[in-house]
Amino acid sequence: TADNDDIRARIRTIPDFPKPGIQFRDITTLLLDAEGLRLTVERMAEQVRGPIDLVAGIEARGFLFGAALAVKLGTGVLLIRKDGKLPGATIAEDYALEYGTDRIAIHADACTPGARVLLIDDLIATGGTARAAVRLLRKAGAEVVQASFVIDLPELGGADALRGDGVAVTSLTA
Ligand code: 5GP
Repeated sequence: TADNDDIRARIRTIPDFPKPGIQFRDITTLLLDAEGLRLTVERMAEQVRGPIDLVAGIEARGFLFGAALAVKLGTGVLLIRKDGKLPGATIAEDYALEYGTDRIAIHADACTPGARVLLIDDLIATGGTARAAVRLLRKAGAEVVQASFVIDLPELGGADALRGDGVAVTSLTA
């Protein structure tokens, strides 16, 4: 359906995970469902605007959708990982959490300067993760043309903040 109710219906909400008060959107049920997975990848691909040279997926669920989209778009996929996981020389970016900070990294040579990159993750909430990913990709010389998510929680403001950073943002469901 146009408003992706068929995709939304395959996502489960788990209360109080990972801590009390959080309503966690669990996409494992969507991934398990062959039709749900197919529809998700098809519709994310339909939302892509303009030529893309490379898809960048955010660890870990962004890897799954990112790789599937890369195959559809005929590109490779760049891994944005938690710091300390990549074996080669890396560049990293810190971002604020509710308590403390976290750090993501990419291989320093993963991206050709000027590459038009599509950023992928399963969900955007505050936007802290995706905005750090954009800073990191730009540090590597990429042009981040679009960021796509299965789920946007708009009341948390992440998508709007990312748009303010100059990135086109799309998602399938709230
Ligand atoms: P943000 O940085 O936008 O606040 O949080 C988004 C990041 O945390 C994404 O990498 C996403 O995978 C993860 N995340 C936060 N909340 C949820 C949730 O409810 N469900 C899922 N599947 N991921 C979440």
